[in-house]
Amino acid sequence: MSTIPPCPQCTLENTYPDGDNYVCADCGHEWPMQETADADAAADAVVKDAHGNVLSDGDSVVLIKDLKVKGSSITLKVGTKVRNIRLVEGDHNIDCKIDGFGAMQLKSEFVRKA
Ligand SMILES: [Zn+2]
Repeated sequence: MSTIPPCPQCTLENTYPDGDNYVCADCGHEWPMQETADADAAADAVVKDAHGNVLSDGDSVVLIKDLKVKGSSITLKVGTKVRNIRLVEGDHNIDCKIDGFGAMQLKSEFVRKA
């Protein structure tokens, strides 16, 4: 197995896996296996609600303030529950359908996870 990285502390390659960590036999340094690409990619994709909770496709959320719908006279009231959200890219990062209103796009900062 040549996939084990060299020790980040002493740069020697006398390293081995131990559980979730790599261990350096030379200097005794231990470090976690998964601190690289995985974590970065996940961080980019994460959408969080107003309280910092991570949102996922299919979640239900509740509006935390009244929201005027652009280009209409509709105001979505605080406390409105929105089921089965879909995360999308962009300024309005939640795609959803709201009972009685139809398809909407919301900003994650104005909702909290239900
Ligand atoms: Zn080392």
